[in-house]
Amino acid sequence: MSATFPELKVIFLDIDDTLFGTSDFVTAARTKAVEAMIARGLKAEVQPVLNELAAVVAEFGSNDDHHYDRLMKRLPASAIAGANRHLLVGAGVIAYHNEKWKNLKIRPEAEALLRDLAATNLRLGVISAGLVHKQIEKLLRLGVDRFIDQKLLFITHDVGIAKTNPRLYAQCAEVAEVSPEQVMHVGDHPYHDVDPAKAAGLRTVWIRGTGKHSKNSPKTEPDHILDDFVELRGLLETDYGIPLERRNRS
Ligand SMILES: [Mg+2]
Repeated sequence: MSATFPELKVIFLDIDDTLFGTSDFVTAARTKAVEAMIARGLKAEVQPVLNELAAVVAEFGSNDDHHYDRLMKRLPASAIAGANRHLLVGAGVIAYHNEKWKNLKIRPEAEALLRDLAATNLRLGVISAGLVHKQIEKLLRLGVDRFIDQKLLFITHDVGIAKTNPRLYAQCAEVAEVSPEQVMHVGDHPYHDVDPAKAAGLRTVWIRGTGKHSKNSPKTEPDHILDDFVELRGLLETDYGIPLERRNRS
């Protein structure tokens, strides 16, 4: 155990663009959705509809539940003439989700590390922004729930504090009954994961990866800047003295 680093008790993880890449599936899933709508009678080319859909998401936010309804209202009436709007929306939404869940997989090196960490004395938790049912579905489908302490699962819409507020991170450490410096938070977002966690006194790991937030830098210096979970494994073993034997994967 290096003297430079405090003894870790808890590691919190962000979900989106940390455990999996969101950009990996969004384009493919939206394309499938639009193709399904065209197959049901939408009279349009794929790309202009995708552009309009991207505008809807940008204007109403990714957590809005009515992207495809709104899209219908913005397309020319001639594109929908003769078709049933509700059937088109249903076909699009189903095709989107089918393609999304087909492609949404936890990064293998992340899963391997979580599995090995779960076998140590460290406790694993999740701090994630978003709607409870959406984030829970991701955790269950990714199989991450198997590795975390269920008491250490924090979703901002449930907690009532946004990720930009350091109080969220302080509160998560408090619930875990450890001091902030015994907690590490791992995430991709410079302003949601690094800056507020750092302000609350946690050890911060910025996984830059290739996600959409990798181009902006945090305002504060993260304790560690890493590219992926392979590097995180190395950091935990070398700098934090955590014994990570590779478990039998059979
Ligand atoms: Mg994220």
